[in-house]
Amino acid sequence: EYNEGGYLALEIGRILDNRYQVVRKLGWGVFSTVWMCWDMETGEFVALKIVKDLECDRVIALGEVAMLRSIQERGTEEDVGKSTIVSLRNSFSLPGENGVHVCMVFDVLGKNLLSLVDYEGNKGIHLKNVKSIIKQVLEALSFLHEKCHVVHTDLKPENVFLCVDSDYVRKLALDVVERVWSGQPLATSMVCAGSRRVDSGLRCRLRLLKKVVEGGWSGGDRGGWGRSLEWARLRDSVARGPRSLRVKLGDFGNAVPVGYDYKCTIQTEPYRAPEVILGAGFGCSADIWSVACLAFELATGTVLFEPTKSQSATRPENHLACIMQVCGPVPYGLRLRGRHTFRYFTKFGTLKHLGKVKKIGLKQILVNECGFRKKSAGEFSDFLQAMLNVDPAKRPTATQCLRHPWLAGQRYNYRATPLDEE
Ligand code: ATP
Ligand code: MG
Ligand code: MG
Repeated sequence: EYNEGGYLALEIGRILDNRYQVVRKLGWGVFSTVWMCWDMETGEFVALKIVKDLECDRVIALGEVAMLRSIQERGTEEDVGKSTIVSLRNSFSLPGENGVHVCMVFDVLGKNLLSLVDYEGNKGIHLKNVKSIIKQVLEALSFLHEKCHVVHTDLKPENVFLCVDSDYVRKLALDVVERVWSGQPLATSMVCAGSRRVDSGLRCRLRLLKKVVEGGWSGGDRGGWGRSLEWARLRDSVARGPRSLRVKLGDFGNAVPVGYDYKCTIQTEPYRAPEVILGAGFGCSADIWSVACLAFELATGTVLFEPTKSQSATRPENHLACIMQVCGPVPYGLRLRGRHTFRYFTKFGTLKHLGKVKKIGLKQILVNECGFRKKSAGEFSDFLQAMLNVDPAKRPTATQCLRHPWLAGQRYNYRATPLDEE
């Protein structure tokens, strides 16, 4: 997968751009692998996203870099919303076999929101935690939309990351150092395929890193650190009660300026707004739609709109039916603007293959299918229903959403420790 697909094969201990020493792999995606590195210039750990060296991926990556830079130039550090967006610390390129690999340097973050939700058990997380996360996401969007005039276009649980503290980050590095010095092979998740072996050369290369992570050992309480790596435990506690969770919005690979005439289909399917399905253009309100889907998912452990292909209708038509069931009919004006409307609707405004759809409404779904109490379902559905207005022009802005009573009095602690002891 490494050499063929365009990923850069890296070995632990290598120094990139005369500055970043590779410590371990953190994750990977369609376009890139992400590595934890030791920044020898600042003495900090960073996450290095190394994009494939194929022409098309490089072009997208350069767009992501430009977008992140332009976001960074707006506002001030005091903007809460700005501090909730991942910040690009640096970028550079490395030569590869097919071209250059674009590299982006970020702070090290934790897992994304998918890891918090128990999808198998259809159990959401504690409502206080949902509120705190959604408030932060809306603050990020309020900054992005109103100060940067940018639409994220890919809001989903995968792209919202949990922040972690420096002890957690150091533990990630210590894990590597301990394995290397005890002669244990490295874990597959830490390295490129086939490079788990530990030898004296590696020890030599990691000498400095060893000093750094062992020197920074605070108090020697191994138990505490070890446990803090258990995400399963975090997931349980986030389901049970309020925790101070800090998150950041990431993955700006698909973000576009407001008003950009974009003909491609944006958003990941379950979070896709009706105007996008119909090809009727989109703006910031498409992100607001996705936030409502995200909030529902976090609170219930089920995906709000999960279209499937059936014998009678295509996925997008089924998707529209799901939407109409929860949000009511698609207004005439929106149908009129949609380039794809004719594929799904008759001229009378009913779906071509699925006919009329009966509205159920969100409150009823929350009570009957998700086990919500009536009062709490009423308040939550009131918040969601406005964001899920089928007419994009009638959806509230991020700033307006933040004023909704459902979020009132919602505070979160800025200490970046999702993994501290209860
Ligand atoms: P895709 O667009 O397919 O989601 P991508 O190639 O654009 O993937 P990202 O989604 O940015 O890559 O990152 C891939 C994975 O790497 C993430 O899911 C996450 O596990 C990890 N990761 C990314 N950024 C960081 C970070 N700053 N700190 C820690 N881990 C990270
Ligand atoms: Mg991603
Ligand atoms: Mg991406």
